[in-house]
Amino acid sequence: MNSSRISELVQKLNECRDAYYNRSDPLIPDSEYDTLFDELKRLEDETGIILSNSPTQTVGYEVKSKLTKVQHDIPLLSLGKTKDENDLKKFAKENPCLLMLKYDGLTVELIYDGGELIQASTRGDGYIGEDITHNAKTFKNIPLNIPYKGFLRVVGEAIIHEGDFRAINNNLPAGEKPYANARNLAAGSVRQLDSGICAERNIAWMLWDVLEGFEELGSIRGNDSRFYKINRCTEFGFELPEMLKVFDKSSRDDLEILIDTLKNVAVKRGIPIDGLVMKYDSIAYSKQKGGTSHHNNDGIAFKFEDETADTVLQDIEWSLGRTGQLTPVAIFDPVDLDGTVVARASVHNLSYIKDFDLRVGDNIRVYKANMIIPQILKNLSAENRTDNLHVEYPHVCPVCGHGLVAEKVNNTETLYCKNPHCAGKKLGAFEHFVSKPAMNIDGLSEATLERFISNGWLDDFSDLYRLDQYRNEIIRMDGFGTRSYEKLWGAIQTSRNVSFDKFLVSLGIPNVGKTASKAIAKYCEYDVTKFEDLVGNNFDWTVLDDFGEVMSNSIKEWFDDPLNVALFAKLLDYIEILKPEIAIVQSNPFKDKVVVATGTLSNFTRDSITKKLEELGAKVAGSVSKKTDYLIAGEKAGSKMAKANQLGVTILTEQEFMEMIK
Ligand SMILES: [Zn+2]
Repeated sequence: MNSSRISELVQKLNECRDAYYNRSDPLIPDSEYDTLFDELKRLEDETGIILSNSPTQTVGYEVKSKLTKVQHDIPLLSLGKTKDENDLKKFAKENPCLLMLKYDGLTVELIYDGGELIQASTRGDGYIGEDITHNAKTFKNIPLNIPYKGFLRVVGEAIIHEGDFRAINNNLPAGEKPYANARNLAAGSVRQLDSGICAERNIAWMLWDVLEGFEELGSIRGNDSRFYKINRCTEFGFELPEMLKVFDKSSRDDLEILIDTLKNVAVKRGIPIDGLVMKYDSIAYSKQKGGTSHHNNDGIAFKFEDETADTVLQDIEWSLGRTGQLTPVAIFDPVDLDGTVVARASVHNLSYIKDFDLRVGDNIRVYKANMIIPQILKNLSAENRTDNLHVEYPHVCPVCGHGLVAEKVNNTETLYCKNPHCAGKKLGAFEHFVSKPAMNIDGLSEATLERFISNGWLDDFSDLYRLDQYRNEIIRMDGFGTRSYEKLWGAIQTSRNVSFDKFLVSLGIPNVGKTASKAIAKYCEYDVTKFEDLVGNNFDWTVLDDFGEVMSNSIKEWFDDPLNVALFAKLLDYIEILKPEIAIVQSNPFKDKVVVATGTLSNFTRDSITKKLEELGAKVAGSVSKKTDYLIAGEKAGSKMAKANQLGVTILTEQEFMEMIK
């Protein structure tokens, strides 16, 4: 089918683009890329389906000053809930029903008219939500244009897949707190004012109902069916939601199996869910069932009981982080939970261990929070324990043997190694220093750093820039050679030219991550001397937006340590801070104009025309609207050309464009 070929092409081309731009590694020859690109373009023109992440589209991010309120013409109400499977059977009675996933995200309604996405809004209180159209355009799997020209109102859930959520947390610069759960991150992302931020969060939108549309088909067979309407939508490029028909007695009898099937699909595909939903298939019957002001009677939500397992605590492992914090992990006899074997659960901090009175050998009950993160639910052995013994925990650092300190903040006790020269902290600090958001030095894996540190070659960060004195030893090391040494040394040299914010990130000042560093760099006008002056005068950083006491004090404390001050100065002997280029755009016909490019151009790719226009100071848009000043039309320009003609937008050939910028 065309719509699935389109999503296949979009995915393939995006992978190639990512490999090419981010890893300088073309997966396929240019000619093959162009062939696939042309096929996609042709299919888009033929079907009228354009996906939000199609490489044929230029993405212009939008920044709003606030989210405007939207009234829902059809209220988005909730459903009654149950944890009992029998209630589902009672709900269905003899009626054909659909059993679907209950996605754990933020409900978002999309409205299409005339084949275009015209509005996306959050559920809000069910009656009034917020307009988030700018962000919806960055969702990774929705069509912006569809072949259906009637009015279509669909509702679904904005979610972040488990794998994407993990990747987002893994790529955070150290010092930035990991996001606690995917649902909150999805909800926060969808409500961003800057769609560029939402775009980074890999939001997927999963359709779960069609509220309006296809009425013109009248009462032809199938049009009263929810299943039919949802399936129609998938022909327009929407992702088919996971759903099963419960249409007859035998499927109602097998309900337990159907529930397990759906649950397993969600686990396998990393889809966050908080249960299932059963809905009547007949739309007429659904309407007849009515509802109250806060919930509809056409469906029922089914919540899972948490699956638990009892096991024996075998050990508590403590691992040392870059800041010197020790994090405990409970190790227990392997058990099966929600389809996977689990043998470890984070126990967060010392208070947690004390609260649960966790001792090796205890019988514990474990579960997976949101069916994903293993947690201890209960310590069964502690229930009837009457002794006054205390839990055991380490008193010296597992790496350096230095005495540990238990610090209490807001009733939470955490263990720290405070030895500034602890080798365990050093490894983490170096890993952070060379990481991508910081100095971005390729070729220094954890294992390599560990060897360099234990050989005594790396004590503080500046030692990296003198590694060439160990050139011969490194070349002789296992897994190294002249070539990999030269490559590493090249990467180290490249890192000597760095932006101020990345340099700040690399220092690993607690609580000062990517965002804070950018704000500081900007405030100091990318001038290190200015920054040093401010630090020297005990500057109060809370005057910056979003800087609290904790962050401000963190910076002060870091620079209170003379070793850190010396390190900062030493690094600057090797490092050149790059000032951001602020381009001065000469006056030209495209400056501050809204420009759209379409069709195949002979002098530009889609990316290079965007870059060129941006250099000229133009605002590059993805679709033609009343606000468009110019449409640059190449070969085979399709629907955008027609739209521009209709709206009276000035259309330029590539030749005319070239003339104008001469
Ligand atoms: Zn230590």
